[in-house]
Order: sequence, then C-alpha cells, then structure tokens
Amino acid sequence: MSEEKQPNVKGPPVLLLQGLSKSYEKVVALDGVSLAIGEGEFVALRGPSGAGKSTLLYLVAGLLTPDEGAIQVAGAEVSKLSGAGKTRFRKEVIGLVFQDARLIPYLDIRANILAAGGDDDWATQLITSLGLEGRASHVPGQLSAGEQQRVGLARALVHRPTLVLADEPTGNLDDVSAEAVVNGLRQFVEDGGSVLVVTHDPRVLEKADRVLTLEEGRIRS
Ligand code: ADP
Ligand code: MG
Repeated sequence: MSEEKQPNVKGPPVLLLQGLSKSYEKVVALDGVSLAIGEGEFVALRGPSGAGKSTLLYLVAGLLTPDEGAIQVAGAEVSKLSGAGKTRFRKEVIGLVFQDARLIPYLDIRANILAAGGDDDWATQLITSLGLEGRASHVPGQLSAGEQQRVGLARALVHRPTLVLADEPTGNLDDVSAEAVVNGLRQFVEDGGSVLVVTHDPRVLEKADRVLTLEEGRIRS
C-alpha cells in the first residue's frame, strides 16, 4: 500500500474524472471528484460508508448520470454516449464486479462466464487460473460463496475489458478466494488492464499501486 505514490499515468489516462458531482435529492454523494488512472494501474478506493464510493463506480460504468463534471474512459466521454452506446460501452469496455457474484442460477459456471461474451478458450484459461477447474459444469448453487465470486470475476474479465470496476469484491470471502480474486485482478493489470476497486480489505489494499480515500464526496489528499 503506497498512499504517497504519484499517479503512474503514462500517455492518455484510461479513466479521467474531472469535477464530478452527483446528488440524490438533497444528499450530496459526490462533490467535485477528479482523478486519473493509467493503463496497467491497480487503484484502490476506500472511505467510510456513505462516502460516495459506489456512486462513483456506477457513474464510471454509465449506470448513473453526473450532475456536473466529465467522465472519460479510454478517451470517450461516458455521459455523452447514447443509450445503445452506453450498453455497448458496458459490454465491451467495462468489467463490473459486485460484492455478491449475481450469477444466473440455472446456467452452469462456464455458461455464466460466457454470458458476458469472450471465447471458450479464454474462459477455460480463466476457470483454471481462478482455481475453478472441476467446477465448470456445476450450477452456482453447488459452489461456495467464494467460488461464486471467482466466477463473477471470470465473467468480468472474459470479454477482455479495458477497465475493471469492483465494489468490495472480497467483502465476505475466505482467504483462499480473496487471494484468487486479488491475484486475478493483479494479473489483469500485468496484462495491461486497469482496475478501480472499492475496498477496505487489507488483502486487497496491500496489492494496489495506489490507495485513494473518499470522504463526504471528496478525494482526501
Ligand atoms: P458508499 O458506497 O461509499 O457507501 P454510496 O455511493 O452508496 O456510498 O452513497 C453515497 C450517499 O448517497 C449516501 O449518503 C447514500 O445514502 C446516498 N444514496 C446512494 N444511493 C442513493 C439513492 N438511490 N437515493 C438516495 N440517496 C442515495
Ligand atoms: Mg458502496
């Protein structure tokens, strides 16, 4: 964990936020957030409950619209995309990981992963690297919560996204699964991807290139 490290942003950033603000009715969730994440960077975002962390991720994913500010991902202004453009952006550019895996209960593991796109060979590699071999033809209900979360990560990586957004992905995981998830994210950035992960988990924070803290809708510097 390296709080002081400068952004390792070479060339154009993969994610650029400038003056991002978002309120729900009278609740100010984000109050002028600016940050940049480079190619091959693993950035962790922490902060107290209600600080605006999930709001920030959902804005970047194009699931919410900002009140003010700019969100650029791989050079595209997310809030200017049309409805169809946003859907394509989420399918092609973004990989999303939630605290719970949110798998489709009646599809087996391989089909759950391939539901996000990608190809069978790459899905098989992810299944192996995440320690899920022997599980590919099981349905989610036959897996532990930790195994299900590893499937959730494989599904987020299978279409080779540019940026993975993860919201407390190791929240309730045993050490083996937490390590598999962190190593999977780490491998993704070694291969040139970028990661923004909301977490308080020391097992994740210690593997991040940078740790940012969000408090009351602002990045604390
Ligand atoms: P965090 O993920 O850091 O816990 P959130 O982004 O979920 O924070 O929420 C930030 C603030 O916005 C909180 O005060 C929360 O109660 C409020 N909030 C989040 N979503 C909504 C919503 N849909 N409607 C109203 N208020 C919301
Ligand atoms: Mg949250």
